[in-house]
Amino acid sequence: MPLPFQPVYAGTALSQPPICSTLYRYLHKVPNNGGVLVANQGEHMTGNLAFDPGFRRQRWTIANWGEAYRINCPFCNDTRHRLWVNHRYGQPDPANLAWPSDGLVICFNEDCLKDLDNRKQLFEWIFELPNMREHVAPVLDMSGVTAAGPRLQPCQWPGQMEALPDFCLTYLAQRGFRGDTVSLFGLRYCVGSQEFPSAVGRIIVPIYHNRQMVGWQGRTPGEPTSRHMPKYYTMPHFPKRAVLYNLDNARGRSFCVVFEGVTDVWRLPGYGVALLGKTISVEQQNLLRAAFSENQPIILCLDPETWDNSALKIHEMIRGWPNPIVRVRLPDGFDPADLEHDTLLNTVVTQAQAAGIRLHVGR
Ligand SMILES: [Zn+2]
Repeated sequence: MPLPFQPVYAGTALSQPPICSTLYRYLHKVPNNGGVLVANQGEHMTGNLAFDPGFRRQRWTIANWGEAYRINCPFCNDTRHRLWVNHRYGQPDPANLAWPSDGLVICFNEDCLKDLDNRKQLFEWIFELPNMREHVAPVLDMSGVTAAGPRLQPCQWPGQMEALPDFCLTYLAQRGFRGDTVSLFGLRYCVGSQEFPSAVGRIIVPIYHNRQMVGWQGRTPGEPTSRHMPKYYTMPHFPKRAVLYNLDNARGRSFCVVFEGVTDVWRLPGYGVALLGKTISVEQQNLLRAAFSENQPIILCLDPETWDNSALKIHEMIRGWPNPIVRVRLPDGFDPADLEHDTLLNTVVTQAQAAGIRLHVGR
């Protein structure tokens, strides 16, 4: 029997259930969403799917986008519900090999969803988080998201690769990364690519899973020169949720430090793994549990600006584990990657100790 549906926003009940009530509910998991508004209520999407000869594949021509759910954009300082998520977001897209459509979303404030990483992050927030407490667990089969999602598979470098040129080495040195970072993490520089032009001019970070290269992330050597150029460019359709960056090297150590991004891990090569985002998927939880036995401490060391939402949620998710768990708080304004190697290690060890957990460095 379906549950009675009584969504309320700002004290006013919706006149009828949203077209995709699952998505409507899931949107409340997005950090700082400010509540979900419904626009164009009850209108279904209308349009045509036809072969486009110029594009050499099937494309949609949309007549009416239909119902949309509006939330505060979590990527900019939006407080006016300017992130519009279409009711068909996450549904299999027949124009794209039935992959879940993650593009039916737009930030009218700063166009934040042009950034592929932001698109992936939003998708993870909406569909990957196991619900806590009052939330009902996501029913992914309803939209076919799980079934259609990409899987891990071996991959190649994105194009023509070379050793890091001097200006990249200088950039890494200026940020205080240790000299062996390049060799430890197998970093290379992309000088040309037919398939992935956005990878060109970036430091390419290979991502391994069980010693097999399964993906890569490209980082601009320095701050991006335009706001349309994201700092990171990840291999398209890479299922970040299915890996933990650097797990192969961290496995078997006496404790594990969980970070958000690859450069954070470079600060603690032996112990760090990265979620490649701000959430932890069920698959990543399983990987962590399998790699570390119950007496090995798990240290959460996420970026300070996510302390109140993502970090807390991740902590809640793994709280029931037998492992000692510490949530490290870094000074405001400092991501782990901004701290010196020794400073970061000291912070982790000291805060663990304050929580009654002794870390054995060097093992
Ligand atoms: Zn935005």
